[in-house]
Amino acid sequence: MIVTLSQDAPISTLGHVLAAAASLQLDARTLRYPDGGAVVGINGSLPGDALTHPGIANVTGKHPAYMLAARNHRGNSIVRVGDVLIGAGSPVIIAGPCVVEGRDEVIEAARAVKAAGAVMLRGGAYKPRSSPYAFQGLGELGLQHLADARTITGLPVVTEVLETEQVEMVAEYADMLQIGARNMQNYALLRRVGKSSRPVLLKRGFSATVEEWLMAAEYILAQGNPNVVLCERGIRGFDAAFRFNLDLNAVPLVKELSHLPVIVDPSHGTGVRSLVGHMSTAAIAAGADGLIIEVHPDPAQAKCDGAQTIDPAALAVISRRVHAVHAALAYEDQLAPAELSLIA
Ligand code: PEP
Ligand code: MN
Repeated sequence: MIVTLSQDAPISTLGHVLAAAASLQLDARTLRYPDGGAVVGINGSLPGDALTHPGIANVTGKHPAYMLAARNHRGNSIVRVGDVLIGAGSPVIIAGPCVVEGRDEVIEAARAVKAAGAVMLRGGAYKPRSSPYAFQGLGELGLQHLADARTITGLPVVTEVLETEQVEMVAEYADMLQIGARNMQNYALLRRVGKSSRPVLLKRGFSATVEEWLMAAEYILAQGNPNVVLCERGIRGFDAAFRFNLDLNAVPLVKELSHLPVIVDPSHGTGVRSLVGHMSTAAIAAGADGLIIEVHPDPAQAKCDGAQTIDPAALAVISRRVHAVHAALAYEDQLAPAELSLIA
């Protein structure tokens, strides 16, 4: 059962609902949204008389197992990262190198992607490489370089966290924590970032179904962190022509099933530089709230994932086309008035 509380619900109402669930030994998880609303996901049903308190806006008995991530109880969620709003209407472009290579390099990349239209910087300091012998990233030094790049450019930073023990330290430097495809079902890590105050970018595992992906998001939400953005980054296909198959079917489906924002990674989703621009515009046409793209000032010299990495000039073109496609489709018309007031 999902119980939605209005923004002005008295705090006593939440107490009554939780007490009723506890008296029936039902697991209940509360999620408070930055806009003041709250939702309680209860693993079972409460009797009608427990649901008569002031401020209970909605009760849903029929819902998927991912109660808190489900579309049922909420319009589109907007996730704030620094000054950037993801899911608020305008497509958000996140760009930067696959891996942080050095201080000068990441600052140069950050300046270049900002000039080309990106509003957030990406870059891995801890890299989940398939080979243990491949460059694993600069670690905490890489995080310091990312933080310097943020200070210089003002771009909020998203970077991957690989292990539960690292979450606090990475959260000190980063504005958003990335859970990579290989860790989408690392439940200890999901629970740990669910306790963080930082927003989370949750990539889809490359063998994960849409339902498994939403259940992974539920792990984070169930710990009380409402700021989750989903990222479609391609799934395994049979054709070696592509590194992964970008599953754009998933974008409108997940928007139907969940209130969480969805962005797309056309870099890992194709593995092919020349396809990144096409799939970027296609993703926005499919309803994605933004893109995360690997960009390097000199892709041929990139230390990681060069074949799928574009240069800043290509990003500038993609950025213009993406905003043109978005304007043409006028996705902002679908926003409810309450959501529009959040971005005013
Ligand atoms: C990345 O974004 O650099 C990355 C490793 O992505 P994924 O987890 O989707 O493979
Ligand atoms: Mn990469």
